[in-house]
Amino acid sequence: MCDKNTDIGNLKELLGRRLCLDFINTLSWRGRQKPEELLHTYRDLVDWSRYENILTDQDAEILARQAERHPSEAKKAISSALKLREAVYSIFSSIAEGAALPKKDLSIFNRYLSRVMMHSKIIETQDGFSWETGGDKNKLDWMLNPITRSAAELLVSDEARKVKECRDNACRWLFLDSSRNQSRRWCAMKDCGNRAKARRFYKRKKIQK
Ligand SMILES: [Zn+2]
Repeated sequence: MCDKNTDIGNLKELLGRRLCLDFINTLSWRGRQKPEELLHTYRDLVDWSRYENILTDQDAEILARQAERHPSEAKKAISSALKLREAVYSIFSSIAEGAALPKKDLSIFNRYLSRVMMHSKIIETQDGFSWETGGDKNKLDWMLNPITRSAAELLVSDEARKVKECRDNACRWLFLDSSRNQSRRWCAMKDCGNRAKARRFYKRKKIQK
């Protein structure tokens, strides 16, 4: 099953290729009766965000400490994250399947987006200008801003139609099919074999913290 040529370093390359898709794939085996959840607690969300480099070690530590002091706020932040994730999954999954766009999920997503837009700004870079996701990084749900931005950018790009859902009915991870003839069917190059590796990797990272 496992593609022996693949190491952990390029798993992200093989799987989501976009922050928002990696986020969607934090729920595995959507087709099973009991899907596998990676984000059980607020700390899981912080660890994942650190792994995805949307938080620095220092940001992550500050947020983890804040969460300990304000457990009910942390609970709200993780439940808000899961709500965003499921709305975004529903939108991209319907695109991948050529199904009607779920209007309810789009309006949920747009509520998150309006907050991001409120804090976003244009900054000058060496090559010109770029967007900066603003907002207060010490807010417990700050990491939802870059995730939302990533989903919005993908949705309006030509690549939106390259989003596919793994043909393994139990898996249902989303991925970006960049193959020349758009023929990829599985979340990993040949099958879902590498996923066990990905999960072990995430777990190991959590233990190290
Ligand atoms: Zn798969």
